[in-house]
Amino acid sequence: MSKSYDKLTIAKRTANIAPSLTLAITAKAKKMQADGIKVIGFGAGEPDFNTPDFIIAAAKKALDEGHTKYTPSAGIFTLRQAICAKLNKDNGLGYTPDQIVVSNGAKHSLHNVCQAILEDGDEVIISAPYWLTYPELVQIAGGKPVFVETTADSGFIMTPMQLEKAITKKTKAVIINSPSNPTGGVYSENDLRDLARVLERHPGVYVISDEIYEKLVYDGKKHFSIANASKDLYDRTIVVNGMSKAYSMTGWRIGYTASNVSLATAIDNMQSHTTSNPNSIAQYAALEALTSAEGDKFLTKLTKTFNERRKVMAERLSKMPVISYITPNGAFYFMVNIGMLKGKTIGGIKINGAQDVAEILLTQAEIAVIPGEAFGAGDYIRLSYALSPEDIEKGLDKLEKFLRNI
Ligand code: PLP
Repeated sequence: MSKSYDKLTIAKRTANIAPSLTLAITAKAKKMQADGIKVIGFGAGEPDFNTPDFIIAAAKKALDEGHTKYTPSAGIFTLRQAICAKLNKDNGLGYTPDQIVVSNGAKHSLHNVCQAILEDGDEVIISAPYWLTYPELVQIAGGKPVFVETTADSGFIMTPMQLEKAITKKTKAVIINSPSNPTGGVYSENDLRDLARVLERHPGVYVISDEIYEKLVYDGKKHFSIANASKDLYDRTIVVNGMSKAYSMTGWRIGYTASNVSLATAIDNMQSHTTSNPNSIAQYAALEALTSAEGDKFLTKLTKTFNERRKVMAERLSKMPVISYITPNGAFYFMVNIGMLKGKTIGGIKINGAQDVAEILLTQAEIAVIPGEAFGAGDYIRLSYALSPEDIEKGLDKLEKFLRNI
């Protein structure tokens, strides 16, 4: 039947956006939970703790003090100052507040960066497995994602040779995500210095360094920002970070970029016409998170908690048949290789890839995982450990039982 809006078209740049596989599986799991089925969700992309009380108190205070109006589009000056202090203390990077633009989450910051630097047809190098939003943001801005396949053998780290090979005359940027979602891979300082040496030969290439999981590194690994590799890299790196993962503030929507002044000004100008400014109250909450001593205490607790869960996951997964994995050094995800299941038929479903495995795990084992196709890795499923230790144990019991019955 024809609809009254049949003649109306949707612009290609929007119509072509892939629906989020992550959200689809999460929605299905939620529906099963609502129907009374005890599904354990390993899909979470956010810490399972509440935002700490001291941050919530700062937001309430901001409301009481009337901070409920427009702010400067790049964010309040005190927050940008606090971000500069953080980048200096944690990353050894010197910025001034005019180099910082605060946005509505790191995702929005990344969108702004893509809009600000990409012309039609510009290539952006992304290592796979990748966070599913990168290629979409690049394409929305008219750019072309160019994927570099990494493997478990290298810890899912892109090598200098791979980077050099992927660079063409059209390359405008490379995205580095360390620690990585979905792989948990962490680039060492040496890894990044090696990549920097390649990039120094290509002066027209920006580096978008997504450091949102910076606080979640384990086993004595240290987070390093590629912006620190040299003055040249500092000038063309856009450091992207935010409050979501470190302070359990996903709903507050505060992220930021640190870049050279001309790019920061361009992003600020654009933001002033699109979202005006990030939420005023959330900005005051973020300021408190970054400046209060409570913030550091929370970060220590967060890292310790996730590290304990990571160890439990690794210990349990190591005893399971069929699958394989490497223990991640960062973030809160395991990429589990399910390649051995491909070609098999389970419960009447022929397994062609991770999407089929995710479907079977949901319907037959009652656990929700994210299929790797979403990340450009069809041999993998992603298991988050941002869930309670009890749920981790229950969910892994279900997974183990399922795998032993194959
Ligand atoms: N970058 C990566 C790698 C992520 O996984 C996420 C969230 O899942 C983000 C950026 C965006 O974070 P937010 O927009 O909540 O600040």
